[in-house]
Amino acid sequence: MSTESDDLRARLRALERAARPLEPGATRRRELRRATVASTERFLRHIATARAYDDVPDPGIGLLESPVTEHGMALPDLIERFEREVVKPGGNPASAGYLAYIPGGGLYHSALGDFLAAVSDKYAGIFFAGPGAVRLENQLLRWAADLVGYPAGAAGNIASGGSIANLAAVVTARDAHGLRGADYARAVVYGTGQAHHSLPKALRIAGLAEATVREVALDEHYRMRADALAAAIAADRAAGLRPWLVLAAAGSTDTGAVDPLADIADVAQRQGCWLHVDAAYGGFFLLTAYGRALMRGIERADSVVLDPHKGLFLPYGAGMVLVRDGALLAAAHSYTGNYMQDAADARAEASPADLSPELSKHFRGPRLWLPLMLLGVAPFRAALEEKLLLAQYFHREVQALGFAVGPEPDLSVVTYRWAPRGVPLEEQNRLNQRIVEGVRHDGRVFISSTMLDGRFTLRLAVLAFRSHLRIIDRTLQVLQEQLAALD
Ligand SMILES: *Cc1c(COP(=O)(O)O)cnc(C)c1O
Repeated sequence: MSTESDDLRARLRALERAARPLEPGATRRRELRRATVASTERFLRHIATARAYDDVPDPGIGLLESPVTEHGMALPDLIERFEREVVKPGGNPASAGYLAYIPGGGLYHSALGDFLAAVSDKYAGIFFAGPGAVRLENQLLRWAADLVGYPAGAAGNIASGGSIANLAAVVTARDAHGLRGADYARAVVYGTGQAHHSLPKALRIAGLAEATVREVALDEHYRMRADALAAAIAADRAAGLRPWLVLAAAGSTDTGAVDPLADIADVAQRQGCWLHVDAAYGGFFLLTAYGRALMRGIERADSVVLDPHKGLFLPYGAGMVLVRDGALLAAAHSYTGNYMQDAADARAEASPADLSPELSKHFRGPRLWLPLMLLGVAPFRAALEEKLLLAQYFHREVQALGFAVGPEPDLSVVTYRWAPRGVPLEEQNRLNQRIVEGVRHDGRVFISSTMLDGRFTLRLAVLAFRSHLRIIDRTLQVLQEQLAALD
């Protein structure tokens, strides 16, 4: 062998040694695992009584004290920093008292599913490369499609969240209707003022910022009025516009209202519009008999979005898009590449890469598969039924404290406000703002607010799997204390 080869071999061996920390041995793995698990156990030990919001000054700033270095830091120091600067400040979506916005979850079994996925690092983008990984995700998507009531030809994708899932649906609707650039200015989208902002955002990203978005009138329960939708579409058609997309909500973010899906499906079908149902928040209430009845007609939607990181209590990072005619989802996301030629003939099973913008991706399946297979559906169903009843309970009890309430909750969001008689609206709004800020500062529970009809309104969203009767009672107590502090 030449001296050059010898030099090269010596250099390679030196680099291999220098890169060795990348492959910890069994003993080191045990140390790392123990320290990491110990931190999560510290977190979970007090989760039932943990603060739901921690209002610390300049949160997370301590992270900047230690930049990335050449040779790293000790794990205990890093974990200590992570707990102090990341876990502690701000909202705690894993806590029972997180009742703001749309709560998340943090199901423990999902963390273990992520661990399995990450260590084996199976490639879940293409069937050829990771057949089991792709089948696992497709099996979950089929389960969700059955829940919605979709036929065998449906297809879907487990995306990172509802926003990306909504984007995939919008792009699919655009291509399915053959909309081209020249058509955008005439295209009309129908939604309500209660549509989630990820939908106008998706329209803009999809190139459709020029399309007209019509705000369809709401009924007194903040649900879309199907008669107003029909009238708006007819008027636009008469004016030479191109009615295209109807955006309905199965659980709006603000009030949890479920639009009358069957009536809306009638209108959309008659008018040849694509019907998308944003069920990111409410979709998994289909697991309950009540939810099934309320969302009747969802199976007639062309596309549906459901968020497992909301309604199935997963940690953040899982949203599902389902399209009734799966070929249309594929058509909107198809691609080719010379470097993909080995995989081209292995498409008997639909691959995520053919149904989404992603190629290499987080193998998200196991974070849902493990808890669902391990526990079965029953505990999820029970938890969702519990959330529905907790919302009803709060709706009743908060009135007993003297709050004015919005409509009976469709799902698990309750709107309410402090509206003492004889106090002008501006002053009422200020009082409600003081209440929401006071509750956040207190930190035992975390609620949020919104504007409804120009009124500063408080929201309670019950969806965290750890939220039970006692935290709702505690919320009522915290609110009562806030009222006492107003005088
Ligand atoms: C949360 C939510 C979204 C956005 O989903 P992300 O997972 O947060 O991206 C869209 N629509 C509705 C109704 C939602 O509640």
